[in-house]
Amino acid sequence: MSQKPLNRSQIEQLVRRSLARHSAGVAAAPTVEASSAESPKAGAPNPLVINISARHCHLSQKSVETLFGAGHQLTPKKWLYQEGQYAAEESVTLIGPRSRVISNLRILGPCRDFDQVELASTDAISLGFDIPVRNSGDIAGTPGCMLMGPAGFLEMSEGVIRAAPHVHMAPEDADFYQVENKSYMKLRIGGDLGLTFDKIFVRVDPSFKLEVHIDTDEGNACGFTQQTPCELIK
Ligand SMILES: [Zn+2]
Repeated sequence: MSQKPLNRSQIEQLVRRSLARHSAGVAAAPTVEASSAESPKAGAPNPLVINISARHCHLSQKSVETLFGAGHQLTPKKWLYQEGQYAAEESVTLIGPRSRVISNLRILGPCRDFDQVELASTDAISLGFDIPVRNSGDIAGTPGCMLMGPAGFLEMSEGVIRAAPHVHMAPEDADFYQVENKSYMKLRIGGDLGLTFDKIFVRVDPSFKLEVHIDTDEGNACGFTQQTPCELIK
């Protein structure tokens, strides 16, 4: 056996073999939406839906082709609550700063014009990342990573974030809650633990359905389940 450091193609082979072994029978990656709940509120135009986002990435079409081959198009596997958004069949392997790996990182479609990886704090710690809390798309100066797909590697110079908890809503919801786009509101979670998120970033768009996105750590911290009562407060 050579003592020379492994080159890139050797690493790729090792990771592929390891993944092939794993994909044979180990548990699937967490679903993108771990759970959800609907809570009616008197007079509200729409039910409040809370969904927990497991780690995932958004990619540009160019990056999809780098990872999956020229001309490759993402295949929708599961449609999400927001119109037109989906979890793709395709996933990638994330290689972090200490060569620690997360396999089966789900890709959410459709493609965007930038690449972004959204991890929970626990994921980041286990990978050796120090990642900031950012709103989606605000990725300047954030850490990068390497992604590996069946057709190649993608080196991201930035774009690894912990997504800020946020709520999507239509203008009629914003009117009801008396909040504006890019403001903050609170999310009160009941149940056995009880926890209020004080900074839920508000995103208003006519295409949006009323839905809060928190990550797996945040959901676990407040013991959130489908039965947990919850309420948006200005
Ligand atoms: Zn969202």
